[in-house]
Amino acid sequence: MPQISSRLSGFTESVIRKMTRIANKYGAINLSQGFPDFDPPKEITEELKKIADSGPHQYEITWGSEKLREALVKKQKKFMGISIDPDKEIVVTCGSTEAMMVAMMTVCNPKDKVIVFSPFYENYGADAILSGAEPIYVPLKPPSFEFDKQELINAFKQKPKALILCNPSNPTGKVFSKDELLFIADLAKEYDTFVITDEVYEHIVMKPFEHIYMASLPGMFERTISCSSLSKTYAITGWRLGYIIAPENIIDNAKKVHDFLTVGAAAPLQAAVLPGLALPDSYYEELRELYTRKRDLFLKGLDDAGLKYTKPQGAYYVMVDISEFTNGSDTEFCEWLAKEVGVAAVPGSSFFREDINNFIRFHFAKKDDTLIEAIKRLGTLREKMPKGGVYNKEDKGES
Ligand code: GLN
Repeated sequence: MPQISSRLSGFTESVIRKMTRIANKYGAINLSQGFPDFDPPKEITEELKKIADSGPHQYEITWGSEKLREALVKKQKKFMGISIDPDKEIVVTCGSTEAMMVAMMTVCNPKDKVIVFSPFYENYGADAILSGAEPIYVPLKPPSFEFDKQELINAFKQKPKALILCNPSNPTGKVFSKDELLFIADLAKEYDTFVITDEVYEHIVMKPFEHIYMASLPGMFERTISCSSLSKTYAITGWRLGYIIAPENIIDNAKKVHDFLTVGAAAPLQAAVLPGLALPDSYYEELRELYTRKRDLFLKGLDDAGLKYTKPQGAYYVMVDISEFTNGSDTEFCEWLAKEVGVAAVPGSSFFREDINNFIRFHFAKKDDTLIEAIKRLGTLREKMPKGGVYNKEDKGES
């Protein structure tokens, strides 16, 4: 038999999606894969019903319907403070997942180096493999998840083609400060490097933190490929609607990569989301408040259960330190937690490049009732914990 592509030998299964299957197997509350269990704004779902009758049902323009591109640039101008040409500087994609892949394939040649902060959202590893790029990992050091400036300078000295910036960050909940962004921007300019952003949590930032768009910093629009999505902002993760904003010369090429990969995002959904983009500013303010409340509710539950964590500043994830319960495998811990306590989390090791396995990631994009039930279950964690912890390398003769 012929062999499948060697490209795949570097691939592992997505641990996030695997944890969803484990959650379903044990009937656990799924705080692993990050998606809401509440409905999108009714303006969007009502429009979707109408579109079933009126269409569109056929292909849209490959880089996104005119109306959607216009609505997106209007909204992003307000938040990014940048005027974007809807014909030349934006491509609508199938989620930010495709946006990131297209961005990488558009700028990277095989063997180009790409800086990735670790811990990182696991898709960036696969994006690098598929585009032939070689990641240079720069640690975001727990518990504050700051980077060491000298380590970043050393990474830039290796002349990378691009730096990937997930801000607000999945999985850490870090919101990069203006000083940090300016430091990165100066290096990107000095070493002539692109910045590829993943800003899907741009509207989920808790006060007093504010999201600053890399593309909005002086001299950065030219070299920034801004990727984002409508998934998190409008609670429509299954619709797979995302986009890339960048200068015309990059978008020209990204359009081709996107066209040959997918032809385009689903036409009826591109139309149905339009009332969402027309929502007033108060919608985004309320979204912030909603997630701030959910964060505080969940963190209080973690406090009550005596669990240690780093307080998220944005996005909807929290990294919990499990060193007290295991000196072995966070993966086994997560499986135990789903099975015995009934709450699913993602093992932190799937995000870290370093050998760090004392974190697990929960998300809190759930109805209050779901979070309250999860908190109740987490309150039983200590009494259910086997003596000596969940998994002990020495017990298994692996020390
Ligand atoms: N971004 C979400 C997470 O990190 C969902 C990822 C996915 O499965 N597409 O959990």
